[in-house]
Formats: sequence, structure tokens, C-alpha cells
Amino acid sequence: MSEPIHDAVVVGGGPVGCAAAIAMTDAGMNVAVLEAHADSQRAPDSRTLALSWNSRLILQRLGVWSDDLPATAINTIHVSHRGHFGRACLNASDLRLPALGYVLRFSDLHAALRTEARAREIDYRSGFKVRAVRPGAPYSEVSGTSASGEESLQSRLVVIADGGASLSKSPTQRTRDHDYGQVAVVGLVESDRLHRNCAYERFTATGPIALLPCDDEFAFVWTCTPERAKQLLSLNDTAFVHELRSAFGDRAGRFISTRLRSSFPLILRVVRQPHEAGVVLLGNASQTLHPIAGQGFNLGLRDAWDLADVIRTAPVDTLGSAPVTSQFRKQRRSDRFAAITFTHSLAKLFSSDFTPLAIGRGIGLVMLDTLPPLKRDLMRRMIFGTTT
Ligand SMILES: Cc1cc2nc3c(=O)[nH]c(=O)nc-3n(C[C@H](O)[C@H](O)[C@H](O)COP(=O)(O)OP(=O)(O)OC[C@H]3O[C@@H](n4cnc5c(N)ncnc54)[C@H](O)[C@@H]3O)c2cc1C
Repeated sequence: MSEPIHDAVVVGGGPVGCAAAIAMTDAGMNVAVLEAHADSQRAPDSRTLALSWNSRLILQRLGVWSDDLPATAINTIHVSHRGHFGRACLNASDLRLPALGYVLRFSDLHAALRTEARAREIDYRSGFKVRAVRPGAPYSEVSGTSASGEESLQSRLVVIADGGASLSKSPTQRTRDHDYGQVAVVGLVESDRLHRNCAYERFTATGPIALLPCDDEFAFVWTCTPERAKQLLSLNDTAFVHELRSAFGDRAGRFISTRLRSSFPLILRVVRQPHEAGVVLLGNASQTLHPIAGQGFNLGLRDAWDLADVIRTAPVDTLGSAPVTSQFRKQRRSDRFAAITFTHSLAKLFSSDFTPLAIGRGIGLVMLDTLPPLKRDLMRRMIFGTTT
């Protein structure tokens, strides 16, 4: 029996691919998700994600957010620069929100999204590695290998959410790439002081360190050079705690122990034209960002939400057509551009200890703290994105 034609096939069942599949199913589409890894083969991922209040609202609408999801609220973000003047404090009450956002383990969020996708009876096929996408009209073809051998599917629209792996790296795809020459060392750290739902972003001589409240610990993201990361990962627990404390200080209490240390290389990779007739790229497949501003997944989730919004009103036989994909491109342009520019500027600005820049940063933090309209505008953009 031949495969039915799908309205949309999503390549990649990561968090953004799952969110897009759920949102498109809710918009009345018949969707399949093709995920290269079988659930049992997934390597543990010790990353934690800071999700904005807006992302919570989207996940709630998708039926993914529930009281059972282990999430820790962020009510305050304290931004400072070790050894220099200037600090800023961002509070949920400044925007009259219950929380600025939430911290979740990547694996918990991803599991909740997969569970919801399966509960909607989405055709989710794990262990299916897509090898090629052939855009076409009125149907595109997606082919790859699964446990049953070579398979191919036809679809009106192909959504590539492969996290920036092979498919979104086609030789014809023009990209803007920047290697920060940095690595994020991540893990969990226990402090002798309660976090009181406060997150810290602290700029230090050896790179920015973010501490995010996570259950009764902090999740840390320490950006440093690859050599330093290698050294930090080789240290025993006591020596690592000592290094973290020397770099960060005691602002969040005295660190006691760490666990689940690992590292991620940091790059900027932006696909210049992430949409063509029949195919759209979402999430990290479209833009891979430095984690300094915690925007990557939040932006990818807005990509997924807006895609469903655009196709909801399009007649089903036009799903893969140029007018639909260019409508999506228009709807995403300003938010995408603003998040990429903001994140890249922050990563560059706070990775240098050049004295005039350090003074500029201090002045910027003081201005941010003392000018409430400026602060509220920045917070709104970070939480809700930029709307056209
Ligand atoms: C250290 C660190 C901290 C971060 N912190 C934050 C944060 O605080 N807030 C935030 O919003 N973001 C953060 N991010 C960014 C966030 O993790 C990513 O933006 C997000 O995970 C991207 O999700 P995705 O679904 O697009 O890609 P991925 O999570 O990479 O998923 C892609 C999926 O596609 C599958 N796949 C790949 N190729 C194929 C193929 N050929 N066929 C089938 N399947 C395929 C893969 O197996 C994978 O499951 C952070 C990132 C890092 C590295």
C-alpha cells in the first residue's frame, strides 16, 4: 500500500520540531515527524533552558505545559560585571508578570513535547534518518532510512527542524557563520544560600557566567575558551567549585558541590534564506545562536507558532506554495533579525575585557537600571520577541 500524502512532514523530532508538529496538527494538518534517533538511543543532555513567560504561554496553548512539568520560576535577573561598576536588576513585577520565565531541563521539556505529540496521534517515527529532501510542486519528497529500510514520503510542505545538522547545511544554502572560539561548560551547582528564584548573569574576566535557579540548585553556563573548558572539565568536584567561586564570587552564596558537568561548542550560524517554495527551516536549523541571552529555543518556538498561524488560514492545497512560505518569511523577519542581532552583539560585547568596552558596559548597566522605560522595553523584547 502506498504512503498517504501528508500536509506537512517535519524533519527532526527535537523540541522545535515537536512543537511545530503539535501546532500544525492543532491547525488541522495531517503531520508526520521523522526523527533520526530512537528514543532509547538518545545521549543524556545535561543542558537546562531558560524559557520566557511567552514560551510558557505558547506551551500551555499546545497542551505541553502542566503542573507536572518540573520548572523553576525566574522572578528576578541580576546582571553584573565582576570587578567593574554597574549592575542591573530585572524583576517580573516591572512588567506585572507572575514570572519572567522558567528553567527546565532540556530532557524534561523534550520528553513532555514528545509525549504530547504522541498523545495527538501524530505520525512520529523515531529511528528514521532523512537523507534527502526534493522540493517540488504540488508535493515535495522526503526520503531516508529506517528500520524497515529505504523509505520515502510525499508532503505538501516540508519543515526542516534538524537542529542545523546535515540537511540545513546544503551546499546551495548561503549562511552567515561565526565561530566564537568559545565553549559553554554547563552543569548544576549547589550553594549554601537559597536561590529565591533569582537568576544571575555575571560578566567575568574569563567569560560570562549564568546561574539559573533549577529546583534547589543553580544550573550554570560558563562561557570560556576551549582550552579552559577542557581544563575545567578535567577537575575534580572540589577543584571545580573553587574555580567557579574564584570567577563568580559569593554573590549567589558559597558554592558547595557540582554535578553533571559537560560542554557545548558555541557558534552563530544563520541561514540567509530559510524558506523556499515547499520547504521551511525552523529553530536551530534556521539560526543557531550563542546561549548568552537564552534566546535559541524561545525563538524557535515562536517560529513554530507563527508557521502554524500562517498555514491555519491557507487553503490546504497551497501549503507548499511560494505565497505561503513568503508570508511566513515576512511574519518572522523582524523577530528573527532582532533576536540574532541582540544575541550576537551581547556575545561580542561581553566577551572582551578591553577597558573602554568595560566602561561602556558599566554605563549601559547603570542606564538600564535607572531608566525604567528602557528596562521595560528590553524585557518585553526578550520575553515576547519583536512583533511586526
Ligand atoms: C549550553 C546551551 C544553553 C542553552 N540555553 C538556552 C536557553 O536558556 N534558552 C533557550 O531558549 N535556548 C537555549 N539554548 C538553545 C537551545 O538548546 C536550542 O535552540 C534548541 O535546543 C534547538 O532545538 P531544535 O529542535 O531546533 O534542534 P535540536 O534540539 O538540535 O533537535 C534537532 C533534532 O533533529 C534530529 N535530526 C537531525 N538530523 C536529522 C535527520 N537527517 N533526519 C531525522 N532527524 C534528524 C536530531 O536527532 C534532533 O533530535 C541553549 C543551547 C546551549 C548549547
